[in-house]
Amino acid sequence: MRTKMYIDGQWVDGVKTTPVYDPSDLSVIADVALAGDKECEAALVAADSASPSWAATAPRVRSEILRKAFEIMSAEADYLAELVSKENGKALPDAKGEVLYAAEFFRWFAEEAVRTPGDFRKSPSGDKRILVTHQPIGLSLLITPWNFPAAMATRKIGPAVAAGCTMILKPAGETPLTALAIADIMDRAGLPKGVLNVILPENTGPAISAMLHDPRLKNLSFTGSTEVGRILLREASDRVIRCSMELGGNAPFVVLDDANIEEAVKGLMLAKMRNGGAACTAANRIYVARSIGDRFIAEFAKAMSSMKMGVGRESGVTLGASVSLKERNKIAELVDGATSRGAKVHTCGTTPEGPGAFYPPTVIEVSKDDEILANEVFGPVAPIVLFDTDEEALKLANDTEYGLISYVYSEDLKRAIRFAEGIEAGMVGINRGLLSDPAAPFGGVKQSGLGREGGFDGIHEFLQTKYIGVEI
Ligand code: NAD
Repeated sequence: MRTKMYIDGQWVDGVKTTPVYDPSDLSVIADVALAGDKECEAALVAADSASPSWAATAPRVRSEILRKAFEIMSAEADYLAELVSKENGKALPDAKGEVLYAAEFFRWFAEEAVRTPGDFRKSPSGDKRILVTHQPIGLSLLITPWNFPAAMATRKIGPAVAAGCTMILKPAGETPLTALAIADIMDRAGLPKGVLNVILPENTGPAISAMLHDPRLKNLSFTGSTEVGRILLREASDRVIRCSMELGGNAPFVVLDDANIEEAVKGLMLAKMRNGGAACTAANRIYVARSIGDRFIAEFAKAMSSMKMGVGRESGVTLGASVSLKERNKIAELVDGATSRGAKVHTCGTTPEGPGAFYPPTVIEVSKDDEILANEVFGPVAPIVLFDTDEEALKLANDTEYGLISYVYSEDLKRAIRFAEGIEAGMVGINRGLLSDPAAPFGGVKQSGLGREGGFDGIHEFLQTKYIGVEI
């Protein structure tokens, strides 16, 4: 297990260490090195020095390093899944799914690295030529959250490597071990020293602010909460740094009255319970047509209560612990608030005793203006609201500052497409509860972010367009 920082191709100690906990029993898994000013500067120097030669490296070479990383990561998926489960708390099937999904970003961007688009055109007047080329932006700062410690890292490292950018990755303090394990994979895949550096600063806010004000840094790719995203956008504005922001979500899951109930329940189990509900894509506001409400809620509550909660690595467990007691307590507070306002509890709704950060699968029925619906519940809690008309459902679905993802279930494709077109979100699933796909553009509108990751768009977050005009 790697616990030191990765700077300029070396594993180095920091100013001190910080413990990483197993949230299922709160034991310490490892002590990880923390970066002081000197180590942050060393990471900047390493990434800046490596930048010209890395940008000039042949796309085929960059592609083959990513392909090798994909192969190593796939071969070591079981070990990595254990590590993810241990530091994040999620159930092993979720962790294994994440690691395989994470590895796919390396495969996808290995294929994209050799297909960077360009354009050569005659001007409308015929006497000029328009050349459009895309060049690596340069030194990029990547900041990732704790909920998908592997996939959120590879979704950024993959396109940065493919584009020819060097980078500094700052993982979440709760889950740095997975990021360090990925750095080890990149090292073994042959990534030149200095291209990727992984540090965990001792004082996150000031250290990141200093980097955003450093002229060597050219690009910020952030995944995390909208609240922190806003702070970083403000900081980045001083030097007009390019920003890509994958922020919070509060996804509506809409079940129209002609939906296939069995399929919709299956879809909601994925949309709500993947990763124990700790996903930006998690269905947090479930709107069900009143005429099918009772049947739908009964079947969904049955599926939720059949989940097995426990230590993520234990056999048969499908719901692990939340990442920390702080996160678990936030979930409990939201549910307690809703029940005190009269929410009807269909299953569970109490915090189990014991040291782990567990919260049980919970289904509650709330009024359409209940406060819980304004929050991103990062856990296994499904608040359901009944509605009467499609127009009402669409209005409720759009009644949020977020616009990351949404889901709609209907057996009438025309009706579902009309609904999807009216939804204010960067992604809409029609009769699908899981949309994440390295080959598709992932991202939100409104306060859920700026830019896209994955698909053909992802590499553009690390490229800048240059137009070269020629008089003929
Ligand atoms: P967070 O915003 O608290 O932290 C994200 C990262 O930012 C962490 O590495 C954290 O250490 C760092 N950070 C915190 N304060 C900072 C500061 N002042 N300056 C610089 N860095 C700072 O988010 P989280 O709790 O780790 O993750 C959950 C959030 O992430 C949810 O809102 C979720 O929706 C969002 N998320 C979004 C996507 C997406 O693709 N849109 C994917 C996963 C998670």
